Amino acid sequence: MKLIDAHTHIHFAAFEKDYREVIKRAFDVGVGMVTVGTQRDTSRRAVEVANEFTGVWAAVGLHPTHTDTSYHDSQELGGGSGFISRGEDFDYEYYKSLAVDSRVVAIGECGLDYFRIEGDEIKIKEKQKAVFIQQIKLAQELNKALMIHCRPSKGTDDAYADLLAITSNLEPRTSNILHFYVGSLAMTKKFVEAGFYFTFGGVITFARDYDEAIKYIPLDRILLETDAPYVAPEPHRGKRNESSYIIETAKKMAELKNISVDKIAEITVNNSLNVFRIRA
Ligand SMILES: [Zn+2]
Repeated sequence: MKLIDAHTHIHFAAFEKDYREVIKRAFDVGVGMVTVGTQRDTSRRAVEVANEFTGVWAAVGLHPTHTDTSYHDSQELGGGSGFISRGEDFDYEYYKSLAVDSRVVAIGECGLDYFRIEGDEIKIKEKQKAVFIQQIKLAQELNKALMIHCRPSKGTDDAYADLLAITSNLEPRTSNILHFYVGSLAMTKKFVEAGFYFTFGGVITFARDYDEAIKYIPLDRILLETDAPYVAPEPHRGKRNESSYIIETAKKMAELKNISVDKIAEITVNNSLNVFRIRA
């Protein structure tokens, strides 16, 4: 494998008609992938697709925005825009029954999202935290990595600070991966010190806000992702994203780290195999 897309959603509604072709395009250019669930149905489906292809692994979990009833994304779940998230509670036994599958390499995406909170802020944050802690416990029980979605409210590090407090207090420590990382340099230093991994995606090809953090983070903590179908890299911006496009993000990462693309590929694949405990 030349590259691993550590966070994608090939099993989402956006790929319902052609996921096999999209996966084949990725394999043709040497890209494997971890497809990530966000709630009950997408988690179950992630495991199904991972069992269909060698080179696809799954993560199962409950995304913080799905713990509330305010938000719906038709690329994720299909259906019209009038359909809303169900405001799911975390059913530990259900997710455990999915996570014991050998193709499941992480619990998530789970974490905290303070960006889109609508309604009773205190109540919503408390529920997000409680649901996140249950998923940390599941990761501890099954010895799987944690695929973390963490998004602070605009212009702050608030959710990151809460995340660090929660993860620091729970033993044994899990292998923590911060997906789509957007934190400040000060926050980055704390996460590096706490042993976190970071995934970076297409946004680094067209926005310069992440360069400082990327230059600071040691190479052995960096993974690459697409978060497809979202946020395609240059020169595919505005299109539906897919795992084969990850090469563009690898090129940009190589430039920022001032090493060759081959070296970035080798290092990030090794990091992925290590953190997900995949035997290649
Ligand atoms: Zn995602």
